[in-house]
Amino acid sequence: MKVLEERQGPTWSREVVCEGRKHGRHRPGCGSRLLVEAADLTCVRDYDAHNGQQVAVFKCPLEHCGVETDLPAEAMPAWIFDSLVKGPQRGRPTYYGGGRD
Ligand SMILES: [Zn+2]
Repeated sequence: MKVLEERQGPTWSREVVCEGRKHGRHRPGCGSRLLVEAADLTCVRDYDAHNGQQVAVFKCPLEHCGVETDLPAEAMPAWIFDSLVKGPQRGRPTYYGGGRD
């Protein structure tokens, strides 16, 4: 196929705040304002705090911080969320007896 005019296509970025993980005993974020794009995020299945849901995670680039913050899937278009590199799973699924969820 012949390319007549090359374009970059749609890009995505979002202004976020380094907040840290809100659940559990994690160090809070530094509060810096950051601009994240898809390449800054990994998709993590989280059994620790999100019942096995997938969240998008970024790590603060500041040397004195480096804390991880979670973003819900709804924070970005679905095609971005689906394209994220997979990160390590957090925690393990917990199964309860008696058909409870
Ligand atoms: Zn930070």
